[in-house]
Amino acid sequence: MELRIQNLSKRYPNGTQALADVTLTVKPGMFGLLGPNGAGKSTLMRTLATLQEADSGSATLGEINVLRDKDAVRQVLGYLPQDFGLYPKVAAEDLLEHLATLKGIRNAKERKQVVAALLQQTNLHAARKKPLGSFSGGMRQRFGIAQALLGNPRLLIVDEPTAGLDPEERVRFHNLLSEIGRDVIVILSTHIVSDVHELCAQMAVMNGGRVLLTGEPQAVISQL
Ligand code: ADP
Ligand code: ADP
Repeated sequence: MELRIQNLSKRYPNGTQALADVTLTVKPGMFGLLGPNGAGKSTLMRTLATLQEADSGSATLGEINVLRDKDAVRQVLGYLPQDFGLYPKVAAEDLLEHLATLKGIRNAKERKQVVAALLQQTNLHAARKKPLGSFSGGMRQRFGIAQALLGNPRLLIVDEPTAGLDPEERVRFHNLLSEIGRDVIVILSTHIVSDVHELCAQMAVMNGGRVLLTGEPQAVISQL
């Protein structure tokens, strides 16, 4: 399955051209979206996540028309937004179980299995009874990945996930994403060149709503 974005444009009501003719093909694996603040990365990601409308252009994920078939996209999408909020008093395991119910996993035994597997995968098993408010930044981001993976997405979108993580947590988080990227299309937005260099097989550089360069990180980064 490939994600194909063609001539996607978006202007906000205040006149900001956040996306200008964005054309990209994203293959399975890790795809890095590199660009400074204001480049349009979040706008692109929110559009792909069906949370906002584009003005023109198209996007398809396999057979799915991303801009029209929102329900179909949501079936196969995992999304970790930049401003991922948590319920500080709720235990990690309880929130994950609740979100699993909302995702439609109605069978209690199956739900427990899914949640336990995600807590293992994100290395949060030992902290599963702790309130989310007690989590470190890295733990919060890993929890964000756990919730995004509910329902086995084919496309995982993560918006600036490593901002504010200490080096050790960054490595841990990178390892988690690499593992996921073996099965799923992962789009990682970041303003940190080394995030893309270390993790991604393909990348694009955005600025001012435009895609400036796209290709393999080694080739692209050498042109920066
Ligand atoms: P990012 O860190 O990805 O650039 P922003 O800080 O620009 O994100 O945006 C945070 C939130 O504020 C988003 O929901 C975005 O839609 C909104 N926002 C950003 N810039 C503006 C703006 N100029 N006018 C109105 N809302 C904005
Ligand atoms: P990035 O994620 O790369 O930082 P964004 O997509 O958040 O970029 O923002 C792209 C541009 O659009 C910025 O100039 C930002 O201020 C503006 N912007 C983002 N959200 C809004 C909004 N809701 N209303 C108006 N302008 C916005």
